[in-house]
Amino acid sequence: MEREEESRPFYIPAWYYGGPDERSARPDNTFVRGEGMFVVREDDTRFEDWEGQSLVNNLGLGRADMAKVLADQVHRLSWLKPSAFSDVRVALTRDLQSILPHGISIPFYGIGGADSVEAAIRAARMVTGRKNVLVFRTGFHGDTITTEAVSGWGLPDYGDPRPWVVHVPSPYDCFQDLGEWDQAYERCLEGIEKALKKRGPRTFACVLVEPVMGVGGVVPLSTGLSKALREICDRHGTKLVADEVVTGFGRTGEWFGSSSVGLKPDAIVLAKGMTGGYAPLSAVVFERSWGEELRQNGFPHGPTFGGHLLGCAAARETIRILTVERLVERARTVGAYMKKRLSELGQQHPAVARDVRGMGLLLAIELRPARSTTQSTSAEKIGQRAQTVRAHMARRLKELRREPRGLVREVLGAGRLLARQLRAGGEGRTYGGHPASQRTWAISEGLLNDRIRVWVSGDASSIMFCPPFIVTESQVDRLVDRLDFHLRQISREDAGPTATRAPSAV
Ligand code: PMP
Repeated sequence: MEREEESRPFYIPAWYYGGPDERSARPDNTFVRGEGMFVVREDDTRFEDWEGQSLVNNLGLGRADMAKVLADQVHRLSWLKPSAFSDVRVALTRDLQSILPHGISIPFYGIGGADSVEAAIRAARMVTGRKNVLVFRTGFHGDTITTEAVSGWGLPDYGDPRPWVVHVPSPYDCFQDLGEWDQAYERCLEGIEKALKKRGPRTFACVLVEPVMGVGGVVPLSTGLSKALREICDRHGTKLVADEVVTGFGRTGEWFGSSSVGLKPDAIVLAKGMTGGYAPLSAVVFERSWGEELRQNGFPHGPTFGGHLLGCAAARETIRILTVERLVERARTVGAYMKKRLSELGQQHPAVARDVRGMGLLLAIELRPARSTTQSTSAEKIGQRAQTVRAHMARRLKELRREPRGLVREVLGAGRLLARQLRAGGEGRTYGGHPASQRTWAISEGLLNDRIRVWVSGDASSIMFCPPFIVTESQVDRLVDRLDFHLRQISREDAGPTATRAPSAV
C-alpha cells in the first residue's frame, strides 16, 4: 500500500511539535485561499482570521490592487542584488521617511524580523564598541540561533546561551508576581537599573524592547517606563532599539507602536505587517546620525534576499493602502470599540478573566488558572519538579550501569533537564507553561469550532486578537458573543484538552 507521505508529500511547519492531528496535510488542515478577513481550507471551510496569520495579515488577503503592483514589478525588474541601488528601494525609503517618527530615517533592508534584529545589534555594537544587550524576559525577537538567545524564553536543548545577552524581568513577569500594573512597571525599572549596575552600564551596546510585547501576551510599555528607558540610554551612551516587527505599520492604532507608548528609540526594526504578508521584507531604520555613521564607515551585514524588490513594491503599496483607506485610524477606532467590549466581558466573568489589555488591534484577554491548578504554590511546584528529575536520574543511572558511554550522555541530558525544570519552576514562564493554559486552549479550540481562529500568547496565559484592519464592528460583536459563550462554559467546568499543545510563537 502506498504510504500517506508519498500520496500527499509532507513538510515540517514552523514551530512543529508533532501533535498527533497534524502529521500530514489533509483537506481539513490545508489552506488554499484567502479572502479579506477569511482564510479558506481545501475542504471549503472559511475561518475568520483573528490571528492575522502570525500578526502579518493587516490589509486583508487576496487584494487585486496588490496583485497588480507585484505583477508590474515582476515584469519591470524582479530582482537586483542587495548591494545595488534600485528605484523601488529608493522610493520605499522616501515613503518610510514620510510615516516614521521624526529623525528615524535611514533604513537597512532585510528579509525578516530576525535578521533585522541581528542587524540592529551588530550596528549598535559597531558604533558603541560594546558587546552587551539588555532585553526583557518573555520578550520575543526571532528564531535563529542568536535571536533565540536574545528572546527571553529560555533555550531549547540545541541552543546555547550568549553571555552578552542580559535578561531582566519584563513588565509582564512583574505583573504575574504583583497582580498590579503600576507596581509592575516600577519593579521592572528597578530590575533594569540593577542589571546595568551589575554588568557595568557602559558595557551595553543597546537596549532592545518591543513597544507592546506581542508573543509575551500583548503588554505595552507604560509612558513612564518608555521615558525612563530613553533617559537611561542617554545617560550611558547606549542605543535604544524598538523591535516593531509586530507593532509597526498601524497595528497599535498609530503608524508605529513607539508613538503609542511614548518611546523615542534610536532605531526601529520592521517586518511582518510591513508588506501585509504579500512578500517578505524587513528593515532596521536608524536615526539619522547613527545611519550616517554606518553609511560612511560601511556596514558589513546582509542576506542575499534582503530588500527584495517584490517586498519593496509590496511595502510601498501597503503604505498607500493604509493611507488611502485610512486603515491605521480604523485599527484605532475599531480596536477601541473592541477593547471596551472585551473589558465589559472581563467584568462579567471575574472568575475566569484576569486582565484585558492592549491597544489598536493588538488586544488580549488573560485568563485566571482554574482553582484546582492554583492550589499548589510555586515552591511546591519546584519541589515536585526536582523530585521528578531526581527520580528520572536515579532510574536512568540504574538502567545504564551496563553501558558507561551512554551513561555520560544520559547524565548530561538529565542535568540539562534539571536546569530546564528548575528554570521553569523558578520563573514560571515557559512556552505554554502558564497554569491557565488548559483554559486558554479550551477556549481557543471552542472558537475554532465557531470558525474563528485566534492566537495564544507564548506562555498560553492569554488569548490574543490581532485581525486585519478591515475587521468590522459586527465581526467584533460576533466574536465577543462567542467568547462570552465559551467563558460561561469555562466558569461552569474546568474544561480543557488533555493533549499538550504548542503555542503559536512565530
Ligand atoms: N520580533 C518580534 C517582536 C516578533 O514577534 C518576531 C516574530 N514573531 C520577530 C522579531 C522575528 O521575526 P521573523 O519571524 O520575521 O524573523
